[in-house]
Amino acid sequence: MSYRLVLHICCAPDATIGIERLSELGKVLGLFNNPNIEPIDEYFRRETEARRLAVMMGFDYRELEPDREAWLEAVAGYEDEPERGERCRRCIAHNLENVALEALRLGIPAFATTLTASPHKDIDFIHDKGKEIAVKYGLEYIDMTLRKKDGVRRSLELTHQHGLYRQDYCGCRWSQKNKG
Ligand code: SF4
Repeated sequence: MSYRLVLHICCAPDATIGIERLSELGKVLGLFNNPNIEPIDEYFRRETEARRLAVMMGFDYRELEPDREAWLEAVAGYEDEPERGERCRRCIAHNLENVALEALRLGIPAFATTLTASPHKDIDFIHDKGKEIAVKYGLEYIDMTLRKKDGVRRSLELTHQHGLYRQDYCGCRWSQKNKG
């Protein structure tokens, strides 16, 4: 069966609800794409959890090799912005674009992101940027808001059920000061 969509996985806890809901549309390829995560031990920990979840939930999975230099370039000049500010918009846009390019390379017609499971993210921005990138590459962006319809509670339930590690900061070096 061919893939219906690529699902950008930002972390395993958010992927639980993402896989559960987006699999209703067809076959999903989970793509871990997070060049923003630091330090490297934390990156490996989150990637390992996503890979482990793929086995437990039975979905196909890939990791996109993290290009940290390109990500740092994308947010350069905006390092001191608060969360949800311009640094985050550039980070999200950069990562979504990478996911779209991978979908294009693999011949998969659509993409979505688990970032919409987070109660802390600007959902309107994510969807607007996703649609803009989709148009640019002739793809479909699936604007499902995973945190809706009790999504946050359900992802916590699945995270607990699968015994997943749940991080306490978003991912980049600047977000570590907001831990907890
Ligand atoms: S806080 Fe999160 S979304 Fe914002 S730049 Fe850092 S990793 Fe990206």
